[in-house]
Amino acid sequence: MNLKISALEFVQQVQNGNISAEDFVAKTLERIQSIDDKLHAFLSVNEKAVDQARDIDKKIKSGSKVGACFGMPISIKDNMCIKDSKTTCASKMLENFVAPYDATVVTKLKEQDAVFVGKVNLDEFAMGLTTEFSAFGSSKNPWNIEYVPGGSSGGSAVSVSAFECVASLGSDTGGSVRNPASFCSVVGYKPTYGLISRYGLISYSNSIEQIGPLTRTVKDTAFMLNIISGLDPNDNTTMDNKNEDYLSGIDSGIEGKKIGIIKEMIGDGTDPAVLSATKNAISKLENLGATCEEVSLDMVKYSVAAYYTITATEAGSNLARYDNLRYGYDFSVEGYEFNSYIAKARRNFGPEVIRRMIIGGFVPSAGHAGKYFLKALKVKSKLTREINEAFKKFDLLIAPTVPILPFKLGEKIDDPVALFLIDINTVTANLTGKPAISIPFSISNGLPIGIQLFADSNNDKSLLQAAYALEQTVKLPEVPI
Ligand code: GLN
Repeated sequence: MNLKISALEFVQQVQNGNISAEDFVAKTLERIQSIDDKLHAFLSVNEKAVDQARDIDKKIKSGSKVGACFGMPISIKDNMCIKDSKTTCASKMLENFVAPYDATVVTKLKEQDAVFVGKVNLDEFAMGLTTEFSAFGSSKNPWNIEYVPGGSSGGSAVSVSAFECVASLGSDTGGSVRNPASFCSVVGYKPTYGLISRYGLISYSNSIEQIGPLTRTVKDTAFMLNIISGLDPNDNTTMDNKNEDYLSGIDSGIEGKKIGIIKEMIGDGTDPAVLSATKNAISKLENLGATCEEVSLDMVKYSVAAYYTITATEAGSNLARYDNLRYGYDFSVEGYEFNSYIAKARRNFGPEVIRRMIIGGFVPSAGHAGKYFLKALKVKSKLTREINEAFKKFDLLIAPTVPILPFKLGEKIDDPVALFLIDINTVTANLTGKPAISIPFSISNGLPIGIQLFADSNNDKSLLQAAYALEQTVKLPEVPI
């Protein structure tokens, strides 16, 4: 059985009767069993997956109505709720938390007969970009297991890249879908803010984050968007996309499109291999009939500082609920009064979450907010104005997804500022609410490089068309695992 097929191929083959969902899901679980010790993408595996796939096969055989996924095995980042299953956020704080309800994306995928094969690894509460801050151990990059897979949706990217599922869902607050997609050579999508419901996604920085698919092809991303996007009464920030079909017309091409090359995202810190891949992508887009020209977004240079100020502030408030009273772990109250008990319990967070809590308590505090939080909000508005101006002139923008190549596990773990700065090319889409996609573009010394395209808000469909056009120009080696 060939597990190395796209989501759309899977659907077609099950529909044609070439394969059964049960066999495919069973083989997928075997693959997880055989290679995940090495990769550590999964935090938990759904023991009922094969039974669920068998039930879907029965529906197919009996001719009853079957959902668009036909039993497709999907993995999901462990910060999204699946009813009656553990949702840990890769944190000791939620190690035994069993979700009492389904996230909207989960409900929608279940309605379409997807099978969740398991919950996948992340940096604790999605804070980080290497998966090394998971309380349960880092995931490894399938292209070279001594290297980080990116993050925070590292488990999602690894599981798609290493054929441990057909597609995955991650969350992207500042690049957490696109960064690991780039590092593991898969497609990663951050939609327009509000396109996908966040109901059932455990909040880190809710004003800017979105759930997004990680897939093997751009068409698969469009397929997933068709299922999970749209208005949700449980999330007031969602919008009505009128059941847009992101697959139709995906091959429309990019003839005549104007593309801006973001100057600040190909600066001094860009690795030469990444720079040359970007130039190569630009010339391919020109060959396809687009015109490319440099554009400056001056505020990008302050974007990382603004991003960490805003997200730490929101994280400080979102994570205040983890006081070990409502959620938590076994820990005797004897010998503590209220505050010291909570302080002691919260010490069980990992180093990165603690760092964000400290920053998040300080930057918006009385007497300091003007200098930090309010200034960060100004950068956010100014950056949004700049990018809106750019979209008056350009249909799309382009930049490398990450300025550097994947690096070795442990190499940067003690240097938080160096890690923060790696987000320079991804946080702009989040701060401005714009859609952005990373597509696999090149392999340098055995390590993947992704190229990022941005579009204006609600132009997700034309963004996917452009990404599809670029994807067709690329032929990459298969992951060596
Ligand atoms: N590296 C960023 C952070 O730690 C992005 C994380 C994310 O997108 N969830 O905040």
